[in-house]
Amino acid sequence: MSGVLVIAESRRGELREVSLELIGAGLGVKGQAGGRLAVASIGAGAASNVDALGAEGVDQVLTVDAPSEHFEPHVHAAALDALIEQERPALVLLGHTIDSLGFGPAVAARRGLGFASDVTRLAWDGGPVATRGGYGGKVDVELDFPGKDGVLLMLRAGAFAPAEGSGSPPTSAVEVQAEPRTEHLGFREVETGDVDITKADFLLSIGRGIEDKDSLPQFEELAEKMGATLSVSRPLVDAGWVPNARQVGQSGKTVKPKVYLALGISGAVQHLAGMQTAETIIAVNTDPEAPIFGVADYGVVADLFDVADELAEQFEG
Ligand code: FAD
Repeated sequence: MSGVLVIAESRRGELREVSLELIGAGLGVKGQAGGRLAVASIGAGAASNVDALGAEGVDQVLTVDAPSEHFEPHVHAAALDALIEQERPALVLLGHTIDSLGFGPAVAARRGLGFASDVTRLAWDGGPVATRGGYGGKVDVELDFPGKDGVLLMLRAGAFAPAEGSGSPPTSAVEVQAEPRTEHLGFREVETGDVDITKADFLLSIGRGIEDKDSLPQFEELAEKMGATLSVSRPLVDAGWVPNARQVGQSGKTVKPKVYLALGISGAVQHLAGMQTAETIIAVNTDPEAPIFGVADYGVVADLFDVADELAEQFEG
């Protein structure tokens, strides 16, 4: 067993962003895993994604055609099984996504592979070492897989840098027999709310420190003045003050803005899980011991309302 096999993901023929992140993560350990990285695209029209998947460092793109353009777990399971049989990889990478959860764990269990889901960091020490949350996200757990001949990991979307550049790896098709078992009736988009915080360059994020729902409009206005998008910690969503599309964290969105300005957020591990890869983190908190300062590039021990007033003045007009 050697090398890395990445299973790209697409929906309705369009490649999903997590695919390039999986390749990026795979390239990080490719050298130690045996020096080869293959990317597979599964689905009707899989061949149309070949160019986008041929990032620099990818050694081969494999395509598996499917009977339906819509996701069917048993088809993906059969394809993954065939790909593992053919490639014999030391490491298989899938996104920790709704689709991949429908077949990845089943294939790993059937083949007796090492397995971890919701992985946020990947290293190599004689074999893959995966980091994921434990005890409801209160601790980081490092997992290795002694005695396993292959390992399948599901990586959290947004937690790894996407692969860049383009090469021109060879492409080949893999034949898999799988009949469609479902009839597709229609497609309904999940409501993402009024905004996509994962795409914002500048997030003004507020937490329980704002104390009162009546304070919300002040921060909505401030965000607008500063050209920022408003995001929040979970208590504000649990209280029903803000829709969950704006929640950052383990059970919310993983964000990677250029600037993350956190006002009155303590920095619980579940919150950090969703924002610690932001380029620049600025934290304002009255408690100098608040854990958010442990990940902040700039920290201000101050009352957030004083800072908000000052910022509103600075950005006036
Ligand atoms: P608090 O922890 O109460 O912190 C408020 C902070 O504001 C304090 O540090 C305080 O010093 C500061 N403060 C108060 N007044 C002021 C002031 N006037 N000026 C400046 N600072 C002030 N949380 C998330 O955010 N996202 C998640 O996705 C998420 N998922 C979870 C999943 C699970 C399974 C579990 C168990 C928990 C999850 N949580 C999540 C909750 C998480 O554990 C914390 O409870 C939450 O992040 C705390 O939010 P907070 O920092 O806003 O509130």
